[in-house]
Amino acid sequence: DAEMSGDFASIMDLSEKYSKMYVRTNADTPRDAMVARKFGAKGIGLCRTEHMFFEGDRIKAMREMILSKDEEGRREALKKLLPMQRQDFEELFMVMDGLGVTIRLLDPPLHEFVPHQLATQKELAEEMGMTIEEVKLACDALEEFNPMLGHRGCRLGCTYPEITEMQARAIIEAALNAKARGAKVTPEIMVPLVGVVEELKMQAEIIHNVAKQVFAERNDSIEYKVGTMIEVPRAAVTADQIATVADFFSFGTNDLTQMTFGYSRDDAGKFLKIYQEKGILKNDPFAILDQQGVGQLVRMGTEKGRSTKPELKVGICGEHGGEPSSVKFCASLGMDYVSCSPYRVPIARVAAAQAAIE
Ligand code: PEP
Ligand code: MG
Repeated sequence: DAEMSGDFASIMDLSEKYSKMYVRTNADTPRDAMVARKFGAKGIGLCRTEHMFFEGDRIKAMREMILSKDEEGRREALKKLLPMQRQDFEELFMVMDGLGVTIRLLDPPLHEFVPHQLATQKELAEEMGMTIEEVKLACDALEEFNPMLGHRGCRLGCTYPEITEMQARAIIEAALNAKARGAKVTPEIMVPLVGVVEELKMQAEIIHNVAKQVFAERNDSIEYKVGTMIEVPRAAVTADQIATVADFFSFGTNDLTQMTFGYSRDDAGKFLKIYQEKGILKNDPFAILDQQGVGQLVRMGTEKGRSTKPELKVGICGEHGGEPSSVKFCASLGMDYVSCSPYRVPIARVAAAQAAIE
């Protein structure tokens, strides 16, 4: 249990006193959110919604959506997912009462939700009332040579706007429900993998239209924000344009590191140790932010974003958000917050205070 007492609590109080940056958490479940809150997290900086689709009825509805031949079929399946998503978000909003909650729209390539092996595809065909050939065809159509550079992030929401519509509706309805239960909620809807400002414009328009519709239906409203991850190098380079549409930026330094170095997040571990042994790299750049390269894109993104919008809220939610030297670098850029996994929140709080003192 995350309880804070004694010297630990004193150090946290001191950190609070000196920090200029606040710390949020990356959390997708009420339990993680609660742990992080006890550790002093000031909200959720990243809720990865794809983690909510992998269990029980959800994965079934998700697969129905993915295997649908047309928009109508996708919309039918999304109707089943809506109440489940709404409930997930409502619980998170209740746990984080009074604090900001950033919810990211669906990010991974869709093939992650369907089985690759023939044996399980057969079961899937039975479950869905489809022939094995139909299932195989649909799964093959989703296969990509480089899925991490493929049809994922906002590229899904731009090609299938109905997914964004469902998620935006779930978030706004959940926020209104939490408000009715007495919680203070300001949802922040975050669009992943933006590289071109038009992508964000398109997603933001969908979100604003859905919000307007829900407010009219419920005869109630709440304040909400729409922002973006900066995790594609092009987004950092064109951050002045992207900031015209965004209320906030959150640097996704996991993907930004992958795309800046051209190292696969999933495979680079195999040679990065040798690189460190040979002195080619001092650190694993996925663990410790590469300040000379990736960090310069973070600097550029922050400066360009704020040149367009001085009040732009800027944070980081990649793994580096809980690593002390990376946190200090973020503080040196004048970021508003860092976000990290629940058990790293205290480490990030101390690092933020040390950065301010130094
Ligand atoms: C990132 O890319 O840094 C990030 C936070 O998103 P994810 O790890 O989910 O791709
Ligand atoms: Mg990412």
